Amino acid sequence: MKQSRRYAIIGSGAAGTEAACQLRNHDPDSVITVVTTSKLQFIDRYDLPRVFDGVDDWRELLVHPPEFYHDNKITVRRNTWVSSVNTRENKLNFRHKETMVYDKLLVASGGGGHIPEGLREFSAYLNPFTTFQNAVRLRDSLGKQGKVVMLGGDMVGLDLARSLTAAGHQVTIFANETLFWPHEIKQADIAQYVKALEAMGIKVVFGRKPVAVEQISRPSKGTSYSRRLVFEKGKPELANAIMPFYGLMPALNFMMGTGVDIERGLLVNPHLKTTNDKIWAAGDVCQIWSPEDNRYNFFYGWANVKKMGLIAAHNMTGGSTEMKTSQTNKLKITKNGVLHSPYWEHD
Ligand SMILES: Cc1cc2nc3c(=O)[nH]c(=O)nc-3n(C[C@H](O)[C@H](O)[C@H](O)COP(=O)(O)OP(=O)(O)OC[C@H]3O[C@@H](n4cnc5c(N)ncnc54)[C@H](O)[C@@H]3O)c2cc1C
Repeated sequence: MKQSRRYAIIGSGAAGTEAACQLRNHDPDSVITVVTTSKLQFIDRYDLPRVFDGVDDWRELLVHPPEFYHDNKITVRRNTWVSSVNTRENKLNFRHKETMVYDKLLVASGGGGHIPEGLREFSAYLNPFTTFQNAVRLRDSLGKQGKVVMLGGDMVGLDLARSLTAAGHQVTIFANETLFWPHEIKQADIAQYVKALEAMGIKVVFGRKPVAVEQISRPSKGTSYSRRLVFEKGKPELANAIMPFYGLMPALNFMMGTGVDIERGLLVNPHLKTTNDKIWAAGDVCQIWSPEDNRYNFFYGWANVKKMGLIAAHNMTGGSTEMKTSQTNKLKITKNGVLHSPYWEHD
């Protein structure tokens, strides 16, 4: 009897989940297993700001209902960490010591927020915004008209900043060279984009280097600020929450030692295949070779990431589709004078 093909996917975000759906379409008899550190099924992170509109139940943010995975025979192993990949035996090694064999592997492990080394020891006092739980925690710490300090100012942060100001909160960005990341903005154009941010009610401050984040255990009278940002020079800044937005770093520690080529992300050809014959990659974790640009490019954002999941699944099942690899994502200023990024669009 012919053995069903075993597909393993690391990551249950937009890329991994789209790939799982497409693999099921292309290879109906296969065994598909998605492995994810997430405790919940796939939640649309672009929808996390809906907690500010009063969404209190994570089930409202599920992209697919729980029965979807059952109906499509897609096994999702939640709260499971891949610690390494054994490319000689085609096995995933999990942190809890179990192993899992694959015939073909898709790495769609996304990226995590980068925190500069000098601030890492203060991580406990920084607010992440990656899970439903920490989105609710942020909302609760802000109260009615809270104050958020953002560091860096990448496009993920700016997306959240516009939701926060719309919900009546105050946002100040202490910007550095990651402002507008991953858009590449010419020095001469920065002023007009900053003006657009200000038109959106977001304050931008340049030239101050944060060196520490402290907890305020007893807020002074009339304030609820629980965090203090300390700079190399000058007065500290108080806020309800301090959030790092210094760009994303691909999550690929588990790929170290596999022999698969890595620059900053996993390197793939336009067919999304890595340098290993049995491994593909999609989403924020990979950099795709662009013959037009003569370099490897990252492609962020919902539409790009979902497309990569689709293409990878097609090619893993014998197809030969190429990802369009020239960078076209431009930051724009709308007629109303506010910013719009194609990275913010999603369905
Ligand atoms: C709050 C928020 C808002 C955002 N808003 C925008 C936006 O408006 N526009 C935009 O362009 N981008 C936004 N992003 C960036 C966004 O993450 C991506 O562009 C896109 O969603 C990435 O999809 P992905 O499938 O590649 O990875 P992710 O969605 O990051 O999924 C990665 C998956 O890999 C799993 N994983 C990672 N490591 C392991 C491991 N060792 N073992 C097992 N599983 C692992 C994780 O559990 C997760 O399921 C936002 C991100 C956040 C956090």
